[in-house]
Amino acid sequence: MAINPDHFYDKNYTCLHCDTAFTSKRIRSGSQASVKRDADFCTYFKNQRMNPILYTVAVCPACGFAFTDQFDKTMTPLVKKLIAEKLASKWTPKDYGSHRSMEEAIVTYKLAIYSASIKGEAHSILAGLYLRVAWLYRFLEKETEEKRFLSLAVTEYEQSYIHTDYVKDDKEMSEVRVLYLIGELMRRIGKYDQAIRYFTKAVAFKERTIETGIINMARDQWSLTREEYKSTHPA
Ligand SMILES: [Zn+2]
Repeated sequence: MAINPDHFYDKNYTCLHCDTAFTSKRIRSGSQASVKRDADFCTYFKNQRMNPILYTVAVCPACGFAFTDQFDKTMTPLVKKLIAEKLASKWTPKDYGSHRSMEEAIVTYKLAIYSASIKGEAHSILAGLYLRVAWLYRFLEKETEEKRFLSLAVTEYEQSYIHTDYVKDDKEMSEVRVLYLIGELMRRIGKYDQAIRYFTKAVAFKERTIETGIINMARDQWSLTREEYKSTHPA
């Protein structure tokens, strides 16, 4: 399916590392309705080439530093030194600011993960980046890679939960939601005991949350996990 240029706009950015001004394509919000959503919130659009997650990461064409709107804007002198050594010095100027394929989007996320790791971004930021790479591999039906990145994502979400850094970094993420999501990612990588443990924790919020949709999803996925566990562990 062809892309519709009307659904894009050029967003202005200034590189957090080297101050280079550049533009990068973004999808206009509401330009197409979603058609499906997986239990881990992965959202599908009729034209997947215009799925907004392809355009979340901005990559500085001059130095390779890659970031999202969620990144912390502060760059300490030490972080700048590390970015210069580990990323900018090895970077061949390349522009990811135009239309992207799924494969190119994956490269932008991997650059953002590398940048975020050097910078010491919050676990919730890294978790979200890993999860989106997993989704892009899901779209490409590359299951081994998808599972590898789901596994990386869940490790970061667990750290995020332990350190409660999801509170300040993602306004859409609540405690019950992060518990549910960890459960669902554990289920998807076949760690059924862990999945049950986290779904149970999420359901325990039923009297304390207005997010009843999440409680219902946790119940449904808990049942599904039990079924999957039984079918893979015959008595
Ligand atoms: Zn830069």
